[in-house]
Amino acid sequence: MLDVRGLCVDYGVGRDAVRAVTDVSFTLRRGEVLGLAGESGSGKSTLAYAITRLLRAPGVITGGEVFFHQRSAPGGPVRKVDLLEADARELAGIRWVDLSMVFQSAMHALNPVARIESQLTDVLKRHRPDMAAADRRARAVELLGMVGITADRLRAYPHELSGGMRQRVMIAMALALEPSLVLMDEPTTALDVVTQREILDELMQLRERLGFAVIFITHDLSLLLELADTIAIMYAGRLVELAAATDLAAAPRHPYSLGLLSSFPALHGERVKMTGIPGAPPSLRTMPDGCKFHPRCPHAFERCSAEEPSLLALPGSRTRRTVSCWLHVGDRVPPEALGRPDP
Ligand code: ATP
Ligand code: SF4
Ligand code: MG
Repeated sequence: MLDVRGLCVDYGVGRDAVRAVTDVSFTLRRGEVLGLAGESGSGKSTLAYAITRLLRAPGVITGGEVFFHQRSAPGGPVRKVDLLEADARELAGIRWVDLSMVFQSAMHALNPVARIESQLTDVLKRHRPDMAAADRRARAVELLGMVGITADRLRAYPHELSGGMRQRVMIAMALALEPSLVLMDEPTTALDVVTQREILDELMQLRERLGFAVIFITHDLSLLLELADTIAIMYAGRLVELAAATDLAAAPRHPYSLGLLSSFPALHGERVKMTGIPGAPPSLRTMPDGCKFHPRCPHAFERCSAEEPSLLALPGSRTRRTVSCWLHVGDRVPPEALGRPDP
């Protein structure tokens, strides 16, 4: 349903420009949960803002295509739209309706002087002008119910709700028009872990029931291993590995993915020593040559600092799996060198 090809995003123009997202390509299937992980500054939010065309100056999309396959009705014909070429009118017919977003600080995005009810019914009024006021109100009650909030909170103002409830309202708004794709950028990071868990469980139940696809962005890889079907790992603005969550957990193939996995305690299974990744990601102004991870990579060899690897299908893999690392080109080092055998 979403086909991102060669997406590049810069901040600034001319000599001052820095590239925050470089040549990112991936596809998303209908109903799929794609998790996007990577350290702070790896370009996850920039990618999300670019895909949804919400990128603000000094951000500039400098290349690529983002095809969104819009379905007018369940089982109906599919229309392919290049989101990067779409004009404001076309985007307005897609955003909220078929593609909605819940961003990092979404709970602060509610209007502080409007009641929850009017904020929910406004979304419906704008996109379903024919809907009767009573039906809009009934839908608002239903939407709040979906995210575990009772109807008596409809008359509340945002400041009368907890952070978790406000974030639930944002999720309800994102689902109001039954989109087929919801993009979530750290939707629960600002909340305590218990509330976070409750909201994520509810969200996944809703996804089961309503069937929407999700792009879920977080730096918490252990969370993604539980939630996502597929995981994409970003480093220094590039996708470095894309794999089914189960494959990635069992046998990461990029040294950075392995480092990330070793930086988090597993939720289940044996206790293992966490090692982390030495060093820090490069600054956008001083990107190393070759593989951007080579200054931190324990497996680096001569080619790594000279040439940048591309994201290629992993040879011999049974599932959709791509990795950008010279170790997997020409069998330089057996995959076992990354610690675990192929599943
Ligand atoms: P986090 O996990 O902290 O949210 P992220 O992966 O979402 O990080 P981005 O916010 O997309 O990362 O940032 C990617 C890079 O772009 C970073 O190096 C950041 O400093 C840079 N960047 C982001 N916004 C701007 C801006 N408005 N102007 C200049 N550079 C920016
Ligand atoms: Fe490490 Fe080289 Fe692979 Fe980069 S290409 S991740 S430096 S082994
Ligand atoms: Mg971010």
